Parts: sequence; C-alpha cells; structure tokens
Amino acid sequence: MSVFQHPEFDSHEHVAFYNDDKAGLQAIIAVHNTNLGPALGGCRMWTYADSNEALNDVLRLSKGMTYKAAMANLALGGGKSVIIGNPRTQKTPEMMSAMGEFVASLGGKYFTAEDSGIAVSDLKIMSQHSDYIAGIHAKYHYAGEQADGNPAPSTAYGVFVGLKSSVEFGLNQSLKGVRVGIQGMGHVGYRLAEHLHREGAELFVADIFPEGVDKAVSNLGATAVSPEEIMSLDVDVLAPCALGATVNEQSIDAIKAKVIAGAANNQLSTESIGEKLLERGILYAPDYVINAGGVIDIFHQRMETSSNDAMRAHIEEIGSTLKDIYTRSTQTKQATNRVANVMAEERFSNKA
Ligand code: NAD
Repeated sequence: MSVFQHPEFDSHEHVAFYNDDKAGLQAIIAVHNTNLGPALGGCRMWTYADSNEALNDVLRLSKGMTYKAAMANLALGGGKSVIIGNPRTQKTPEMMSAMGEFVASLGGKYFTAEDSGIAVSDLKIMSQHSDYIAGIHAKYHYAGEQADGNPAPSTAYGVFVGLKSSVEFGLNQSLKGVRVGIQGMGHVGYRLAEHLHREGAELFVADIFPEGVDKAVSNLGATAVSPEEIMSLDVDVLAPCALGATVNEQSIDAIKAKVIAGAANNQLSTESIGEKLLERGILYAPDYVINAGGVIDIFHQRMETSSNDAMRAHIEEIGSTLKDIYTRSTQTKQATNRVANVMAEERFSNKA
C-alpha cells in the first residue's frame, strides 16, 4: 500500500524505511510534525505480521506524540519508530547499532526513546551511533526514589496532579476522603496510589497479579477488589492504569465514578465514547494529557540547564492544562477528548 494513501497517513512530514540484511534490521521511522520542535517518540519492537501493520502503528503513534508534546507545553514534535521482529528472540546488539545509525541518518529531526520491546540497555547501544537517543541519562527523582531512567515515577506524579485537579474541577473538593478505584497496580498505578494515600484518599485497587495489590493493602490501607469489579465500583474517581480501551460500549453504562483520570494509553475504545461520557456527566481527563509526565521527564533529562524543581513544575502544569480543557468543554459542550485534540492542533498548527 502507498504511504500517502494509507488510512493512518495524516500529512506526516517524513516516513523513512530502513533495511540492513547483515544486522537483520527492518525498521520504519515516522515524523508526524516538527512545527514545535524536533520529533520525540519511542522505538517499539514488535512481531508485526507484515510491514503494513508496522506502518499502521508508526503512522498512528507518531501522530499521537505530536498531540501529546503540544499539550505538555514541550518544544517538541511527534515521531515514532518501529522495528519488525520478536524482541525476545530476534534482538541483537548489531541490530541495535544499525537502529542507532538509522536514527542518526535523520540528522536530529527525530529523537528516539524507550517503548515496548526496547530497554534502556538497547538505547545505550544506539547512542554509540547517534546523538539523538533520549531517556538514558536519568537525573531527577521524586520523594527520595533513585532516578534510573524509568519515567514511571514522573508519569505517576503527573497523573496524581491531574487527578487532583480533575477532582477540584468536577467534584469541587480536595482529595481527602475521595474514593478512588485504581485498575492496575504496576509501575504507575502503585506510585499513584502512594501519592493519593498521602493526601487522604480512600483506595480500592485491582490487578490480575496479587503482588501490587497486596502491597497496597498492607502499606496504604487500600481495599482489594477483583479485576471484574473495578470498572463498575461505586467510587468517586476511576483511574485506569492497566490496559487501553477499558472505557467502551460494554463498560460505560456500569461506570459509577464521576471522574475518570488514569495513566493508561488509549482509554476510550473510540473517540465517540467521549460524547457518551459527557452525556453521563462523567469528567474524563484525556489520557495523553494526564499521562505526559514521562515524556516531560525525558525532555528535562536532555536539557543541560534543568533541575528537579524545573521538571516538577513542568509536570504540575498538567493540572492547569486539564482545567483549561474542562472549562472549554463546559463552555462549548464538546467532549473533553475532542477539546484536547482541537487545542493541540491549534498549538502545533499555528506554529507552522
Ligand atoms: P505495568 O505493566 O507496570 O502495569 C500495568 C499493570 O496492570 C500490571 O500490574 C498488570 O498486571 C495490570 N493489569 C493488566 N491487565 C489488567 C486487568 N484486566 N485488570 C487489572 N489490572 C491489570 O505498566 P505501567 O508502566 O504501570 O503503565 C500503566 C499504563 O500506563 C499502561 O497503559 C501504559 O501504556 C501507560 N503509560 C505508562 C507510562 C510510564 O511511564 N510507565 C507513560 C505513559 C502511559
């Protein structure tokens, strides 16, 4: 299929294909838009069925990064790269070196970082061949937690700030005594629970594995609930921190929370679910806005003149950005996910 006719093609600036037989690398880089700055987006290695499936992913994800960077007040554009192959069985150091050369060949138009199937150790190999590798120089940290390059602490802090501002806007109260249901006690979900506990929220937590749930029950006084119950639990706030598309045609009618604010990517199964949430009076924090703490962290890691405080202040802007979205949604009666998209487009299009 031609790239220009591809259904996910949306005026992408640059789409590059790379083949290195010796290193066994087949990869694609897509740069969606660089009006606000060079494109940033992770490198994903996945067992794509064919190159069209890989193209589909890289076009879609690179566009998403443009919107995310714009709403995070970053001087960055959106890009993404994908490697076709099984990260467990086919990845080699030679392949990562070749990927570094591929990233270098775009001359700084695109910076890569971690994504599914790619670890910091892989990025370090790429960085021997390219200056445009991000997320390998962890510098900043929260609450005494040692920085190791993992952006989850920053993502969790951003979700916490965003959830708090959503509760202020939607429920007109602080977090004290607010009942929050968290779906997923992984890297982000557990840290979010810690922040919420500190502010006096009452926690209900679910995971398909017991470790995180048990820890939250004993350390944070959380109540364990089953993965089947969490979406329809009688809580004030629902925080999806596990998978995408959990707010869908099947789950929406049973949701009792008045606010949805969590870390998961692509929480709504379709954009039109946003209108249903609006009709039901449920305040939805657009996922790519509230979960931008990690990308803000990566941006600050590369800035020579940044600091813990500067990064923290930048992440805290997520709270005011969400309030701007909610205010405009109330004024225009448009779903919050649609408002976020329009605001992002205004930001990156006007800078052309
Ligand atoms: P993670 O893999 O550490 O945690 C996800 C948790 O969800 C796991 O503990 C898993 O067992 C659990 N889970 C899976 N299916 C479930 C189900 N049906 N019900 C309940 N729990 C279930 O991932 P993470 O890094 O914490 O990220 C969480 C979400 O946030 C993901 O959607 C991720 O894409 C998104 N996100 C993460 C970051 C980051 O910095 N880590 C940044 C942006 C977005």
